[in-house]
Amino acid sequence: TFRAVRIDKADKGSTAALTAFDEAELMDGDVVVRVEWSTVNYKDGLALTGKAPVVRRFPMIAGIDFSGTVLSSSHPDWKAGDQVIGNGWGMGETHLGAYAERARVKGDWLVRLPDGMSAREAMAIGTAGYTAMLSVLALERHGLNPQSGPVVVTGAAGGVGSVAIALLSKLGYHVIASTGRLAEEPYLRELGAAEVIDRAELSGPAKPLAKERWAGGIDSVGSTTLANLLSMTKYRGAIAACGLAGGMDLPTSVAPFILRGVCLYGIDSVMCPIELRRQAWSRLATGLDKEKLAEITQEIPLDQVFDAGAKVVAGQVRGRIVVKIS
Ligand code: NAP
Repeated sequence: TFRAVRIDKADKGSTAALTAFDEAELMDGDVVVRVEWSTVNYKDGLALTGKAPVVRRFPMIAGIDFSGTVLSSSHPDWKAGDQVIGNGWGMGETHLGAYAERARVKGDWLVRLPDGMSAREAMAIGTAGYTAMLSVLALERHGLNPQSGPVVVTGAAGGVGSVAIALLSKLGYHVIASTGRLAEEPYLRELGAAEVIDRAELSGPAKPLAKERWAGGIDSVGSTTLANLLSMTKYRGAIAACGLAGGMDLPTSVAPFILRGVCLYGIDSVMCPIELRRQAWSRLATGLDKEKLAEITQEIPLDQVFDAGAKVVAGQVRGRIVVKIS
């Protein structure tokens, strides 16, 4: 047996507890990994608190991402001793997840830990940081560059937002950070934000078109915030939508699309194809200052994920949390 954070169905919702888990109960897969690090993402918070039905198989081991070392493998790409990153693909939702000393997964899901990145750094970045990178890649594919104009990042003090600011500023963009926690302005400037704005400016109902303020943006909030981002995007600019921390709805109009040629890119990290994953992780290895990453990261042991998950869902966590598993 090994230690795991187990989610069980209850009369009302679900329960989460740190317990012993039998290796024989692990699900199908051709690679067994000794999980060393994980993290607490927004989705982990939802699973741990039961606030949204992200867990669709019981019992479940929570945790959507891990880094660790291959213990055994019948997959041609992997052998014992390889250092790997696993994230998404339904781990922690439909496949037993990362908050455990062991994971058995499909070798096709895994990405090799890039040169120059430690297993701990990989999870300091985690799904949130990798999603920020997927968003940057989408904006780059659109043709955006630092000369195009400023870029806006919403949910700035959160996990996706913090990494997005660090990545974009290192690339040379003028980054406008939108936050509800103005007390975090020094933190956001340290990360690379050139301007910090109050998210209240972007949370009211959006006009079809408003004054053009940015050439691009990365949005982890959704709802009226995303609608305002679109209506304030410059001619032929682009927004990458990756989150719903403010709501699942999108009360917008077609005006930004048909009058300004604005593009809205959808970012999904869970089923993202392996080639794009490799590209994202490799860019993260070179595109992020390690000192900045260390600054936004706090470490907790496995038994503290319950508390951390509740805080993430309440929007009280700054930056990233890394979880030491084994
Ligand atoms: P997080 O660390 O909790 O950050 C979310 C941030 O959003 C908060 O720190 C807060 O930033 C802001 N926020 C929270 N509630 C808000 C509200 N009601 N209105 C406006 N802003 C609000 O979470 P995360 O891990 O960065 O994830 C952010 C979002 O991206 C989540 O919705 C998550 O599900 C999503 N996500 C999606 C994918 C994907 O595959 N598409 C992958 C990873 C994450 P401030 O305090 O700075 O305002």
